[in-house]
Amino acid sequence: MSIEVARARSGRIWVKNIGLLLTGDIDAPRADADTLIIEDGHIVALGRAAQCDPGLAQTVIDCRGTAVCPGLIDSHVHPVFGDWTPRQNQLGWIESSLNGGVTTMISAGEVHLPGRPRDIVGLKALAITAQRAFENMRAQGVGGGVKVLAGAPVIEEGMVEADFTELAAAGVTLLGEIGLGSVKAGAQAAQMVRWARAHGIQSTIHTGGPSIPGSGLIDKDVVLEADADIIGHVNGGHTALPYEQVCALCEHSTRALELVHNGNERIAILTARHALELKCPHRIILGTDGPAGSGVQPLGILRMIALLASLAEVPAEIAFGFATGNTARMRNLRQGLIEVGRPADLVFLDRAEHSAGRDLLESVQLGDLPGIGLVMIDGVIKCQRSRNTPPAAAVPVVSQT
Ligand SMILES: [Zn+2]
Repeated sequence: MSIEVARARSGRIWVKNIGLLLTGDIDAPRADADTLIIEDGHIVALGRAAQCDPGLAQTVIDCRGTAVCPGLIDSHVHPVFGDWTPRQNQLGWIESSLNGGVTTMISAGEVHLPGRPRDIVGLKALAITAQRAFENMRAQGVGGGVKVLAGAPVIEEGMVEADFTELAAAGVTLLGEIGLGSVKAGAQAAQMVRWARAHGIQSTIHTGGPSIPGSGLIDKDVVLEADADIIGHVNGGHTALPYEQVCALCEHSTRALELVHNGNERIAILTARHALELKCPHRIILGTDGPAGSGVQPLGILRMIALLASLAEVPAEIAFGFATGNTARMRNLRQGLIEVGRPADLVFLDRAEHSAGRDLLESVQLGDLPGIGLVMIDGVIKCQRSRNTPPAAAVPVVSQT
């Protein structure tokens, strides 16, 4: 239904005068292109102006030399229902993140729901309801239209394969963080991860010390034995494992290494460096783990990009890829890469006014946050000059015909 809404409203869009096109692909982070053509919410052409036929574009976006990158993906959030979080009793946190360039969020479990059911029938019902509710809310424009992929059940002891069959048949594609429920032993988790994977459900495991009173420690031995698809917040959420254990996870697993804003920053920096040294940067994906005890971070993904670029010596264009194309590939998403045929989920950005950096990438390399001038989801403009980032030095100009 949401796709139909987007199709009805996107039309043909001519994006011209792009100064820098970041593809999201860390193997080829910059495209030799200054023009994008969008039709029905998808990218249909990209390249130099002379190679792209704008046709009868209803919307023209003149980038005025600013940059375009894929919409940022927050790989680790804890939504509940609607654009409300009980964790900090805050409204509008999802729409606020849109102003930080986030166009897709992935639930690691709707664990903050007051009175969350822990019995098996109840947890399945909650997951299915959350999946439906977040899918439908996007079509209604709640949360700014951000794609919130939710309905991530927290597995509990006693679940059998038939439960995973039922969840998959009902449209559930994610597991909430393993370890937040009663399944904490590696062998038990591994069995459920295999059942989930066999039915097309992707899994994430909590890593590190307890997040809040009542949750527990998951160490490297449990993470390796469980073999979930995503090593959730490998830098802790907040309390990280000792660095030697994190190194073991880098070296003895091939699964995604998720770095989150609400984790240990030192371990995030060391892990990113280690992944580069081990030549496995494709495994690094970024999340916020918000809302959390440390709050809601609308600019959390941008802050992670700037942190890793400035202190882990990750080239800024690669750090953008950690938050976009890497996550797309690790999580089998269509969005997150700028290529023909992909959804037009895009962020238009520039260096912030008065940054010491002379251009976008240099400013991020120096640790400054960029300024966002426009965010688009499925070809539909969702916000223009961000109310949350520092002001972009230049913003695109939009004209409708
Ligand atoms: Zn966690």
